[in-house]
Amino acid sequence: MTNRLLPLLFLIFSQALSAQSLSDRLRTHLDFLAADSLDGRGLGTGGKQKAALYIAEAFKNAGLAPFDDDYFQEFFIRISLANMTGTNVIGVLEGSDPDLKKEYIVVGAHYDHVGYEMKDEKRIVYNGADDNGSGTAGLMELVRILSGRRSELKRSVIFIAFDGEESGLLGSKAFASSNGRFTPAEIEFMFSMDMIGMYKSYKGLDLKGIGTLDNGPEMAREVARRHNLDLKNVSANVESRTDTWSFAERGVPTAHAFTGLKSPYHKPEDDAPKLEYEEMARVVEFMADLTSRLASEKDLRAAPSYKGTKKGGIRVQAGALAGAGSSYFRNDATYFNAKKKAEANVGLFGQLHLGKRITLQAEGLYDFNGSDAVTGTVRRHSFTVPATLQLNLLNQSGGQVRMYPFAGAYYRQHLQITTGNAIGDAPVFADTESGITYGLGMDIMKFHVALTFRRDMTGVYTNEDNTFGSGTVLNVGYKFGGGL
Ligand SMILES: [Zn+2]
Repeated sequence: MTNRLLPLLFLIFSQALSAQSLSDRLRTHLDFLAADSLDGRGLGTGGKQKAALYIAEAFKNAGLAPFDDDYFQEFFIRISLANMTGTNVIGVLEGSDPDLKKEYIVVGAHYDHVGYEMKDEKRIVYNGADDNGSGTAGLMELVRILSGRRSELKRSVIFIAFDGEESGLLGSKAFASSNGRFTPAEIEFMFSMDMIGMYKSYKGLDLKGIGTLDNGPEMAREVARRHNLDLKNVSANVESRTDTWSFAERGVPTAHAFTGLKSPYHKPEDDAPKLEYEEMARVVEFMADLTSRLASEKDLRAAPSYKGTKKGGIRVQAGALAGAGSSYFRNDATYFNAKKKAEANVGLFGQLHLGKRITLQAEGLYDFNGSDAVTGTVRRHSFTVPATLQLNLLNQSGGQVRMYPFAGAYYRQHLQITTGNAIGDAPVFADTESGITYGLGMDIMKFHVALTFRRDMTGVYTNEDNTFGSGTVLNVGYKFGGGL
């Protein structure tokens, strides 16, 4: 017998005897989903389409009822000037109770990832094994386990492999906003399994948001105890970086099953062999029991304090930025502008999105600026804190693409001031400065660009009234975090 036949025979035997353990089955799914041939399951790739067909096949094999004529919900995506179609894969297990079967539990996992890139004519594929091959494989096994125990389920369970999560939770938004079949009011609870392959390294499992369900943390802990699993985060805070957010916006209680950022997160090295399959199998068995419990619980209610997050609710983002431009002193009495000098800055920024229209931004910058002056060239090292209000004239793809004019104020502490050779009366420089700032900004996915103007209102000198600073800087920033 050749060596080639051996694995094949083993495969036939194991299939015939159904002897493959849960962890082996998860590994088999991951070997498929996180292979280079799936193109990193990026938006618009053939590989992502292959993944969708594979998941639909698993749903069909388990006997799930299709969402529509088939298992696919297609939706329209427009990012900047590109038009695309996204595909959620959806199957339903109908509940056994005549009344409760009209209520739904949603279990979701996004199956898309960030695709591939070309470097020196070589394809670098972001395989996304943990993010979110792990949740997708877990979802298919959850389907298989629960379809074998369907008589236990009083409520109906909707299983969804979401598309477009990495591009701004697009698949879950498309389902939650209008799918033509299920309304948010009928959905009692929603799980997002997003990155569940690193339980051992993370030393536990988060069920962030389970506290949005009345008695949710207690129920989850009870089930976890039976599986000897450690639950870490069981708070009522809904994770905004995964598909839970789209449901929270509609007032649905929701939790994110998560084993931390232990894999090479959003790097090409997020590969299948790195996942911890034995522990992942335990997480999936736990999820099956917890889903079954929620589907059968007599009274399933949102926690009294939970209101959901209003549409486009409050969201926080942070990032780093750097900029370059020019600055100069101006004399408002004589309308004289001194010769410009280079300005550069570097620092951090935070954005608070209040609904769709308004965003507040604060920055902490180290700033190098100056001007020509009667004393010679002035150079200042300053710490600058601008706070601005951005008015979103354009806000697309769930805040992924924004364009906005902004205005606000800044405060500046000068750390060091050097002058040229002082001639005549020695100027006395002010230590601090404040003024107004305004400009035009644009955020696309993780990138932030802003053209910023600054006008000092307090003056450069303490012994002279009419000289003020001005500056123009083009800033480029990169946001941390983003979708999980
Ligand atoms: Zn993810």
